[in-house]
Amino acid sequence: MNNFLLFCEPCAYKKIITEDIAHEDIPRSKIPGGIPYKDLETKSIKEKKQISQPLMRKCPNCGRGVILKRLTEAYTKAQTEQEKLQHEEKERVKKCQQNQ
Ligand SMILES: [Zn+2]
Repeated sequence: MNNFLLFCEPCAYKKIITEDIAHEDIPRSKIPGGIPYKDLETKSIKEKKQISQPLMRKCPNCGRGVILKRLTEAYTKAQTEQEKLQHEEKERVKKCQQNQ
């Protein structure tokens, strides 16, 4: 599962969010691929493929719409490892303080 980076340039708000909440807030419509055309073989009207737009979320700080940037898997992995290390460090400090 890939994470997304929410970076709001005007207010410099930065946060990494998970994929399951990335689709919330701002629904985006697909861009039409072109006008419908008649398929001569089947003699029916067909529509061209629509293009989906990048995900957009509301900035929690200023409310502007921000386009999300998909992070690579390696980055996500490094991020979770970093969080784990920070958590372990906090636990260690807590233990030290309790022993005093
Ligand atoms: Zn903002």
